[in-house]
Amino acid sequence: MATSWESFLQDEQQLEELARQAVDRALAEGVLLRTSQEPGSSDVVSYAPFTLFPSVVPSALLEQAYAVQMDFNLLVDAVSQNAAFLEQTLSSTIKRDDFTARLFDIHKQVLQEGIAQTVFLGLNRSDYMFQRSADGSPALKQIEINTISASFGGLASRTPAVHRHVLNVLRKTKEAAKILSNNPSKGLAMGIAKAWELYGSANALVLLIAQEKERNIFDQRAIENELLGKNIHVIRRRFEDISEKGCLDQDRRLFVEGQEVAVVYFRDGYMPSQYSLQNWEARLLLERSRAVKCPDIATQLAGTKKVQQELSRVGMLEVLLPGQPEAVARLRATFAGLYSLDMGEEGDQAITEALAAPSHFVLKPQREGGGNNLYGENMVQALEQLKESEERASYILMEKIEPEPFGNCLLRPGSPARVVQCISELGIFGVYVRQGKTLVMNKHVGHLLRTKAIEHADGGVAAGVAVLDNPYPV
Ligand code: ADP
Ligand code: MG
Repeated sequence: MATSWESFLQDEQQLEELARQAVDRALAEGVLLRTSQEPGSSDVVSYAPFTLFPSVVPSALLEQAYAVQMDFNLLVDAVSQNAAFLEQTLSSTIKRDDFTARLFDIHKQVLQEGIAQTVFLGLNRSDYMFQRSADGSPALKQIEINTISASFGGLASRTPAVHRHVLNVLRKTKEAAKILSNNPSKGLAMGIAKAWELYGSANALVLLIAQEKERNIFDQRAIENELLGKNIHVIRRRFEDISEKGCLDQDRRLFVEGQEVAVVYFRDGYMPSQYSLQNWEARLLLERSRAVKCPDIATQLAGTKKVQQELSRVGMLEVLLPGQPEAVARLRATFAGLYSLDMGEEGDQAITEALAAPSHFVLKPQREGGGNNLYGENMVQALEQLKESEERASYILMEKIEPEPFGNCLLRPGSPARVVQCISELGIFGVYVRQGKTLVMNKHVGHLLRTKAIEHADGGVAAGVAVLDNPYPV
């Protein structure tokens, strides 16, 4: 779809001047990352990569993505409470995937002991691409849902001002006014605050489990700042600190350095490399506690690719969300093709199809954080190797979404402005809070658009592939 600034992409000189202005505005707005050279320090920071122009997103798809978010919140919450479904769904995966197996072990241990936590908090982000259909119209298809450490809600609130600035410089004030305001971090903080309040201890803290060297700290600070504005105090600690200075009392209240913790918010703990033996022990301690974990271990498991694949099976949504046919229909409309690779006929058939048309599929292990999926020739090699082995059950196969590429200019510190063919991924942030069996909050709280050059199959902003963007609704 053409925009009225497309012609500017050809004018190199003007692009450079615009890019300088955009970068300065981004820095002024706080669209920041720590540098890869000094990821543990805020002494030197730079701007988070972003597009010079907003990218066109059909309004209807944006509305659809917002409308289905509360359904996804309900679905994740239902899966997290359904121990039988999780056990059955993950049974083949945990035999072959050590990381999922360890998470599942903790889940089992907590269930056996009895869950002390009574308030539950979900902060998630459902990601989509726009599949080009046969008739040329785009369709909203879910890539995945992130139930742990869903990021960029903080920086996404600062980028609209940058794109409005660029369009205003070009005297496109009407267009600038169409850039949507967006404040996910405010909504995410509201969820945390609600959970904190329901926990019911005025002096208790929010514990943010942080990585030692966090480039994306300003994104996290946006949420911390919102909470402090509500007089809710946040401490940042690593898993190592918890194993050294964390303990439970008789009622399994969590204390860290002598201070009670109401809510544990994980911005770490979603990848195998983030866990030493000591960290696994700390995670178990946190899970056993009364504190509200965001997410609790069952909700993290509900976000695995294997669960996503099983949810797409005929009849599954109806079982998990009984009596809600409209929600089921909205959810199902966003599902792409998803295929189990468990041993047996169904898995064999999926492998045969993927080998016959590799460009139409993506092979996904049970991993988060970008850069783990296999495409094209790499996928073929992996499938040939895995075909006869039970290890294949640790992967799923997914239909590859093919959006219509468009031109935009990507801005990255240290690189010249680059005009390239791009595709975008839209994320919607969702928040829910449940107390016992009662859902007390269920909302969508904003969006994130990330855009990348078409030559990159995989990877997000943190992985250095995608850049921050804003939807230009048409
Ligand atoms: P992760 O948990 O590592 O973020 P994702 O499933 O989100 O895993 O995949 C990472 C990236 O790979 C996505 O951001 C997207 O760019 C690309 N990708 C994933 N699944 C598909 C798909 N089915 N079609 C096209 N691209 C995909
Ligand atoms: Mg992803």
